Amino acid sequence: REPIPAVSDEFRGLKTPLQVPARILMGPGPSNAHPRVLAAQSLPLLGHLHPPFLHIMDEIQAGLRYAFQTTSKYTLLISGTGHAGMEAAISNLLEPGQTIVVGNNGIWGTRVCDMAARFGGNVIDLKTPAGTSFSLEQLTSAVEQHKPAVLFLCQGESSTGAHQSLAGVGDLCHKHNCLLLVDTVCSLGGVPLFADAWGIDCIYSGSQKCLSAPPGASPFFMSERAVQALQARKTKPATYNLDLNLIGDYWGWFAKRSYHHTGPVSTWYAMREAMAIVCEIGLEPMWKRHLEMHNRLWAGLSQLGLQPFVEDEKDRLITVNTIKVPEGVDFLAVAKYAMDTYSLEIAGGLGPTAGKVWRVGIMGYNATAANVDLVIMAFAEGLKQQGYTKK
Ligand code: PMP
Repeated sequence: REPIPAVSDEFRGLKTPLQVPARILMGPGPSNAHPRVLAAQSLPLLGHLHPPFLHIMDEIQAGLRYAFQTTSKYTLLISGTGHAGMEAAISNLLEPGQTIVVGNNGIWGTRVCDMAARFGGNVIDLKTPAGTSFSLEQLTSAVEQHKPAVLFLCQGESSTGAHQSLAGVGDLCHKHNCLLLVDTVCSLGGVPLFADAWGIDCIYSGSQKCLSAPPGASPFFMSERAVQALQARKTKPATYNLDLNLIGDYWGWFAKRSYHHTGPVSTWYAMREAMAIVCEIGLEPMWKRHLEMHNRLWAGLSQLGLQPFVEDEKDRLITVNTIKVPEGVDFLAVAKYAMDTYSLEIAGGLGPTAGKVWRVGIMGYNATAANVDLVIMAFAEGLKQQGYTKK
């Protein structure tokens, strides 16, 4: 046979080991991972059903129980990013023809509507303007009117910077035999969450934000009620890959532990270490630190004359901050200045906030005074370069 062609110029770069620039990721995620988490990821592989690996999975589940504040047996990692957790929740909680009320105040609600429709759900798209969150009264009338099987809310709407209060929502849902599903991708570990005390039935989250791990694992929780509903389904979930009856077996939820897919071994090492760090620091100190850093950011930004996009302080998410772009300022130029000068990521808006805001994430390992001060300095200098002066 002919010899295969020599490595072309296109692949020349592959002859040297990988190098990446060091960046401070202060956008809506991913945030920088903790060095201990990155180190754990480079440990030698184990087989995905070897007893020492199953033990690591048990430790992850225990860590997730703490992070979610639950005694439920039903915690695990969905293999994939937040979207995989979202799709697992919807495809398993909802049967075709059942109603879901989706609290939609940004792109996450919009995506849940899209996914739920794909799985044959009867979708009620409940809207409130971007930058606001739902009142218990709004939710009560929607649940009473539509009698849904599932109510979806996003605790931290990272496209708008809105925080959704969950007080009283669990009781409302249980009174109407409805399951409460909550997105905590950019809030878990950063703001208080009590799965059991608040009567939440299903939660999905993300690894790459306040938990200081790389993207690729979605922390997941189900209440006893949610698992009963799962087991009482008349139809199988329309996805094999995300069928929680099967994934649950791999994680020891049910009788046996059996192969469903090959757990992403190194990613779960990272999550084991991330959960160990959460347990070591403690949730209350983590929540406190995130709040302090949010306050520090706004003390600095207010001095520059910048305003929050979320008008009502009680609706403001502390982990992903949305900052109004002042008239006449090129938001991209400021973000570019931060990146070029400090290797610092500041993001623009997304969905309803595109072009209107900057988004600054202060999450997990990145929630430090030094990082926040650097963000403030980058804004001060980037705005000055644009000729902006405080009004
Ligand atoms: N929900 C929220 C609130 C998010 O912030 C994100 C990530 N930006 C997601 C869901 C989706 O997560 P992923 O990008 O990890 O799939």
